[in-house]
Amino acid sequence: MKRLRITEIFYSLQGEARSVGWPTAFVRLTGCPLRCHYCDTEYAFQGGRWMALDGILDAVAEFGVRHVTVTGGEPLAQSACLGLLTRLCDAGYEVSLETSGALDISAVDRRVIKVMDWKTPGSGEEARNLSTNLEHLSSQDQVKLVLCNRHDYDWAKGVLERHRLTEYCEVLFSPSYEQLSPTDLADWILADHLPVRMQIQLHKYLWGEEPGR
Ligand code: SF4
Repeated sequence: MKRLRITEIFYSLQGEARSVGWPTAFVRLTGCPLRCHYCDTEYAFQGGRWMALDGILDAVAEFGVRHVTVTGGEPLAQSACLGLLTRLCDAGYEVSLETSGALDISAVDRRVIKVMDWKTPGSGEEARNLSTNLEHLSSQDQVKLVLCNRHDYDWAKGVLERHRLTEYCEVLFSPSYEQLSPTDLADWILADHLPVRMQIQLHKYLWGEEPGR
């Protein structure tokens, strides 16, 4: 029987990306091979409890929502995550996957909306970006760059040009919470006429860094 190590399954508003603001069921998988400096889910690195896919589907169904986000940690670090994503799609949910960009996304069900990070120097994990993942993105997907400072911003502009990111999908620029002023980032994007979408993490402005939110 396929099973996954789960840190938490909870109900909240989606705070990011295209489905921002929608009531959403979140499935947070345990474990991550990265260690970003700004990580806000270190509590998901270890622990958790094993759950069968059927049990996860049952827990999600209790929330009565249309949107489901599979997140972590790094959800793709557990191979059974692929089966979970397909089962959720088959059940009729609108499913999104939040992934670090460091692991191969090629086998993810095509119906899943992928929100893939592109790690900046400020994250400390820049070397982990897997550029072959870009080939597996479609127009429904999004690449997210969390920016820590002006250096990250200038570096991100270079990435936009070098990898032609906006040709693959929508690109999100997000200020690292309490590290980079959202106003500064907005001013820089406007001054440079960048073809990116700025986002702030809605859930943190509503509830801070409380787990399960
Ligand atoms: S990839 Fe995500 S979960 Fe993993 S360390 Fe970085 S921010 Fe944290």
